[in-house]
Parts: sequence; structure tokens; C-alpha cells
Amino acid sequence: MEHLNLNLNLNLSLNLSLNLNPNLMLDRREFLQKLAVGSGALAIPELHRGLFPADKILGIALVGLGNYATHQLAPALQHTQRCRLVGLVTGTPEKAKTWSAKYRIPEKNIYNYQNFDEIRNNPDIDIVYVVLPNSMHAEYTIRAAKAGKHVICEKPMALNVQECEAMIRACAENRVQLSIGYRLYFEPHHLEMRRLGTQKILGNVKMMESSLGFSMANPKVWRLNKAMGGGGAIMDLGVYCIQGARRTVGELPESVTAQGFVLDKSVFKDIYEGMTFQMNFPGGAVSNSTTTYSSYVDRLYATTGGKWFELNPSYNATGAGGRFSDDQIRPFELKTKAFQQIDQMDDFADCIAAKRTSSASGEEGLIDLKIIEAIKQSADTGRKVRLVWE
Ligand code: NAD
Repeated sequence: MEHLNLNLNLNLSLNLSLNLNPNLMLDRREFLQKLAVGSGALAIPELHRGLFPADKILGIALVGLGNYATHQLAPALQHTQRCRLVGLVTGTPEKAKTWSAKYRIPEKNIYNYQNFDEIRNNPDIDIVYVVLPNSMHAEYTIRAAKAGKHVICEKPMALNVQECEAMIRACAENRVQLSIGYRLYFEPHHLEMRRLGTQKILGNVKMMESSLGFSMANPKVWRLNKAMGGGGAIMDLGVYCIQGARRTVGELPESVTAQGFVLDKSVFKDIYEGMTFQMNFPGGAVSNSTTTYSSYVDRLYATTGGKWFELNPSYNATGAGGRFSDDQIRPFELKTKAFQQIDQMDDFADCIAAKRTSSASGEEGLIDLKIIEAIKQSADTGRKVRLVWE
């Protein structure tokens, strides 16, 4: 069932319409080049199961029909052009019934957690999208890879570096592609921040603030369970703050310092309620971040001295807004889609057809977990932690 017609259409998923101030506008070809160079996108002929014609619409099965799958991914999949929702994995028969009626999913494409591995025999399903609690990401990614399916795994990639490495290895061994649910890698405002920063359009970035938090004091949710969430807000929200800063300057931090805090000891018994952390980048930029489960904050700010550019809100899936200051303060005027995940998922389908690595690869997820581990270590020891990148 391998298709050999490789009439590749690389255009579709990257057609992001950047309508900015003409001085700051990014030519489309330039944009594609930047995306390829800056993201480490590589051709990977040896790491690939299945060749798809450019016009094949790939089938996605969602694993875990919770909030994010219900309110973002399934609706986004109604707008994607390169992939569509064809399968479900759920432990709740009532959900299977409602979803199959709503999205016209045939019975043969519905699995539970016990018979999940049988998905290997289902040719309708090309991609398995893991949308489970963090502690289950590694197991289901590895099982999906062993079943010969390409995988998108939600953030954070896993609980620790070791799990991330096992996931990458399993996908490589089974010749399937792996991507992390980093919707903002494809979002026009975030791409614009990255362009302004890495191309030094307003000068050399000296300082950044990158924070995300909301109020969540329900001790029963899995996010507050250390074994399932992995350690609170830094696991859940930290990846956004880290990426916002590191991708704006296009560098990896060489050291971090961090402080953990707990305001409500009755709720946050064995995890930090929030963390502040600082990252030092080799080009000289410093960033400061807060992740918290006790207050609303959602912003990414970068300054070059007198000039600055920012997103506020920045990271929430409900949409970003931004502005920049050169001689005056002006808004970013960027076209966005109904759901940020449309470009994310279409790009992954395109990666599979084109045999290129996703810019939101497993290696990117691993980078963030390495930084999170350093942040946790710094908060626990009170010491600066140095990071060495190969
Ligand atoms: P959720 O609690 O709403 O959904 C989790 C799903 O997993 C539910 O359907 C639940 O039934 C199922 N599940 C299976 N086994 C379970 C178990 N043992 N315990 C608990 N639930 C179990 O969570 P969510 O908000 O949908 O988050 C799911 C994943 O998606 C998380 O990893 C989260 O970080 C990620 N997420 C990503 C974004 C994003 O913007 N990329 C946004 C929200 C959530």
C-alpha cells in the first residue's frame, strides 16, 4: 500500500499570509527558507515508513478525548486540508458514541486503551495523536510507533529526558515520524517574534520576559498530581515560556537559575505552585519567566534597548496579539486561522509526504525537557545550572 507518486506540495501548510508593515514584511520564499534553516528541518530519507502522494489526506486518530481534544483538536481537524479525523481511542464508551455520531467515525476505527495496539492493522489511520495526561505520553507514543503509525504527542513531550529519548528511539527504529503538539511553531505572531529577534530587525535582543500562568487550585486534577503531571506549572506551562524566549533569539540557553514558590500549602503539597526562572543565552540576552497555577499571566516581551516587540496575550490557544515599537508603537497585523492547530497538523501531514522532519520534532521536545530538568535542579539546589548542547 505504498504510493510512489511524490508530486510534493510543500506550499499548502505554510501559506500563512504575513500581512505586516511593509518594512517588516517577510517574503514568502524567505519565510520558507527561514523556517527550514531556523527550525533544523532536514530531509530524512532513511527515517520514513510509507510514501504518500502529495494529495493523500492522512487519517488521524486522537488518543484521549479530554478538553484539548474536544475543544481544539477535533474542531481544528474540520478545517485541515492534509489530514482529517478518522479514528478515536477512548476508555469511555459514551464518548465513543457521541464522537462517532458527531464526526462520522466508523465503529472499526474506534479503540480503547486495551485494544489500542490493534491499530497497527488499520490502514485508515496514518497518524496517532496522543492527547493524554503527561505521564502517559511516552507509553502511548512508543506503542503507536511500534504499531507503525506516525505520532504527534502533546506537550510536555514526557516526564523527563530519559522518556523523551526512548520515544525518539522508538520512532526511529520503527521508521515513523514524531512531532510534538507545538502549535505556536506555526503561528504567525510567534513566527514574527522569531523573525524580528533572529534577524535583529529592531536591534540585538538584550532582555526578554516570557511568562504564562493561570489559576487552578483544584487538587483533584491530574495536572496537580506529581506522578501524572510531572511537577506542576513548570511542566504544563514551562515549555511555552522557554520556547518563547529561546526561539525569539534563535539560541539555546547556556545556563539557568530558578526559584520555586508555594503560596497555598493545602493544595500544592509536593509540587511548586509556580516558578520563576532566568535563562542566559550565548549571544548575551537574558530572559526572566514566571510559570504559575495561581495567577493569570500570558506575555512574551523582548527589548533591544530603546526598541521592543511583544505578544500579549501570547501563548493561549485562544489567540495572540502583538505590537512593536521603533519610532512609534504599532500593532502586528497578521492573518490567523480559526484554530492554531490547523497549520500544525497540516504541516505534519506534509512532513510525512515530503519526508522532512517536523520543525516541532521530538528533538525539540527533548530540548525543552532538558531545560526544564535544569530549571527544577536549580530551584531545588539554589544553584545556577549550566547546559551543554552537542
Ligand atoms: P484532560 O484531563 O481534559 O484530558 C485527558 C484525557 O485523558 C481524558 O479524556 C481522560 O479520560 C484521558 N485519560 C486516559 N487515562 C487517564 C488517566 N489514567 N487519568 C486521567 N485521564 C486519563 O486534559 P487535557 O487538558 O485535554 O490535556 C491533555 C494533554 O494535552 C496534556 O498533555 C496537556 O499538556 C496537553 N494540552 C496541550 C495544549 C496545547 O495548547 N498544546 C492545551 C491543553 C492541553
